[in-house]
Amino acid sequence: LKKTSVSLWSSEHARPTLPERHPYSHKGTHGKALVIGGSYLMPGSIALSARAALRSGAGLAAVATPKSAWPSVSVHIPEATAVSTSEENGVLAERVEVDFTGYDAVGIGMGMGRSDASRTIVQQVVEEADVPVLIDADGLYHLKQLLDVLKNRTGPAVLTPHPGEMAHLLGITVTELLARPFEWSQRFAYNHGVYIVLKGPSTIITAPDGTQVVDTSGNAGLAKGGSGDVLSGILLALMMQSQSITEALCNGCFLHGKAAELLTTEGHSKADLLATDLIEGLSQAFRTLS
Ligand code: AMP
Ligand code: MG
Repeated sequence: LKKTSVSLWSSEHARPTLPERHPYSHKGTHGKALVIGGSYLMPGSIALSARAALRSGAGLAAVATPKSAWPSVSVHIPEATAVSTSEENGVLAERVEVDFTGYDAVGIGMGMGRSDASRTIVQQVVEEADVPVLIDADGLYHLKQLLDVLKNRTGPAVLTPHPGEMAHLLGITVTELLARPFEWSQRFAYNHGVYIVLKGPSTIITAPDGTQVVDTSGNAGLAKGGSGDVLSGILLALMMQSQSITEALCNGCFLHGKAAELLTTEGHSKADLLATDLIEGLSQAFRTLS
């Protein structure tokens, strides 16, 4: 694998590549996302993802979460619909009864828990969903056992690990990963045919061909639970509305960081910023890029 040059994403790249809203578009035009995750004890993450997806232009969002979690999820995102699921002790189990062809992208893992029961659902999605799939959080934890299944996938897969999750996938320490984050990301993306969004103060976006882009937007206000769940929703929405997955990922990371920057310029401080504020801050971020 050749060492390639790395480019830096900016508002000059984002402006011409962000999705447009055609005057005659309808909700189907902008894509229907399915987010799978959440659990009775962690209903927040999947609600944040679904809400962030709709705030980022998705036409429709459906949520597959345990029935026991759905009431808590839906109060935070009444615009979303639910799909039928099975659960075991408050976490998703067995299979999700959906036809993946009815969706334009699938996101899985946020708040889903690490029990064996939920791993079968990650496997189902990796094997059966031909549409672009985004895997985050506990989905990445399970993916470590599913790397062979991942290799056989034909549809695009996007992995959005923070350093701890990436180190787990690679079977190395975080220190080892952070000594050579570009090399490790490139090797993993190339070997497994996936897109990697390695999150951090600077986020490295790597395509399956090894191409790499860095996004330096955002600040330490994002160092709080829920930020990553919001990012997953944003990325999912942009993936459905863009021709290029790499552009969608770069723009999503940029909007997420930009929202944090704008919110902490006036009003919020980096200490008080919440993931829910970040979702509302997307309005400003989109506005500065239009
Ligand atoms: P997660 O750890 O999954 O909640 O994801 C955290 C999100 O916040 C990622 O998008 C990170 O890039 C971002 N983030 C966390 N800490 C910082 C920081 N100190 N500066 C900039 N971005 C950050
Ligand atoms: Mg996370």
